[in-house]
Amino acid sequence: MSSLGQGSEPSINYVDASNCSPPSGTKLAVDTDCSISSYPVLLWGNYIFWPLSYIDNRLSLAIVQTNTAGATIRTVEATGARYINNIQIDTANKRVSFVGQAGMVASLSWSILFGTRVLNNLGQFAPQLQSAAAPVVVKNDDTEPSCPPSHRHEFEVGIICALETEFNAVTPLFDQYWDEDGDRYGRISGDQNTYTTGRIGKYNVVLALLPGMGKANAAGAAANFRSSYRGVQLALLVGICGAVPKNAEGKEILLGDVVISQYVIQYDFGRRLPDKFKRKDTLQDSLGRANADIRAFVATLRTRRFLHLLQSRMLHHLKHLQMKVDDGEYEPPDIAEDRLFQPAYRHKHSEDQNCQICNQCTGKSDPVCEEALDSTCIKLKCDESQLVPRQRLAGIKDNQNSGNVHKPAIHFGPIASGDTVMKSGEDRDMIAAIDNIIAFEMEGAGVWDNMPCIIIKGVCDYADCHKNKKWQHYASATAASTMKAVLERYIRTDKR
Ligand SMILES: [Zn+2]
Ligand SMILES: [Zn+2]
Repeated sequence: MSSLGQGSEPSINYVDASNCSPPSGTKLAVDTDCSISSYPVLLWGNYIFWPLSYIDNRLSLAIVQTNTAGATIRTVEATGARYINNIQIDTANKRVSFVGQAGMVASLSWSILFGTRVLNNLGQFAPQLQSAAAPVVVKNDDTEPSCPPSHRHEFEVGIICALETEFNAVTPLFDQYWDEDGDRYGRISGDQNTYTTGRIGKYNVVLALLPGMGKANAAGAAANFRSSYRGVQLALLVGICGAVPKNAEGKEILLGDVVISQYVIQYDFGRRLPDKFKRKDTLQDSLGRANADIRAFVATLRTRRFLHLLQSRMLHHLKHLQMKVDDGEYEPPDIAEDRLFQPAYRHKHSEDQNCQICNQCTGKSDPVCEEALDSTCIKLKCDESQLVPRQRLAGIKDNQNSGNVHKPAIHFGPIASGDTVMKSGEDRDMIAAIDNIIAFEMEGAGVWDNMPCIIIKGVCDYADCHKNKKWQHYASATAASTMKAVLERYIRTDKR
């Protein structure tokens, strides 16, 4: 093994591994595209990273870091691939992908792969892989494949989606499915939810697709869910929403960002007055607060350290999702498609398009024509001079050539739930100002009525009249990725 990578960036080499003996339990497994005499390894500084497979053929890797003398420094476990025949380095995103048998990929960030602390505390030199001290195993994504629960009441985590688009983004993030040979758990009579069961990380998870949108549907379906899967302790409502452009601290919210809430406010539960909306009370008051576990958990996630972890794990899972569903469905739209108009600026035919109805629309409550409701801003020639400048977007545009890409952020705050779609920038801002609301959606109140949950929603529009569907797939993906990152932080509570 010669020519170690000396630079500050990792590189790939193919080495003759015929003299190396891997640590017990692991093997130098070769696939058809490589051999022991040209085994792919990763080089960084004075270290070699060996992607080893397990003797028991599980779908995981032990990535063993050795120094030039062959001593093991550290081992990182990665899941999702074995029999590596190709390594890919993504310098822009600081990630390494190990591609193995059947094109399966295990992708790790540089920080997980190389560590930071360990590199400052090097082990002593030792002759070969096998004589080194037992490696420190740093678990990556996953735990061992386990057995499916024997009964549906054993599922601890429930995920709820209202739309097929949302459901489709969640399913690829399962680590194992329990229903590949058909459903084995059943449901109570009258329950029309569609369920997928499996494992995400260390939790048995049941994912429900509600049979329709809106509060009433969500309430009935959540009640059925609760009855069919009585053991669920943590429920996550995962999907898409419309957001306010700025949160209460003045931080910009962009399309593709994710909002997390520990409670919902039912904003249309009250009276609309001519000048303002008088809400009766919040769900937090009327339906009882989130249970103590959920409140404590969300409070932890909001701390700086955990938020940082959450963001980076979300990006990790998003990348994984994008690689797994490789038709581009979950790639972000062009940032030029993230357009925020002034709140009072209406989505209607421009004057030169001579639409009688739209030309008479001058006030907040004047109608626009039916055609305008279904048309894009481009078709209606919505006035670009009415766009609100966004700092984060400008930052991405300025640095796009240097690899600066769309990085969705996570925001915490109350989410408003209503029975009608919020489609007015002015109403949005007015209602948001009352409770520092950061997003609007339609199912939270119904689900919450039956099972307190954490709401995790990707932002696909600004809850105004210019909304379109372009960001729905990407927002579904960022929400699903955040869900998985949230689950990694969840600690189950002993049953009393
Ligand atoms: Zn019109
Ligand atoms: Zn428009």
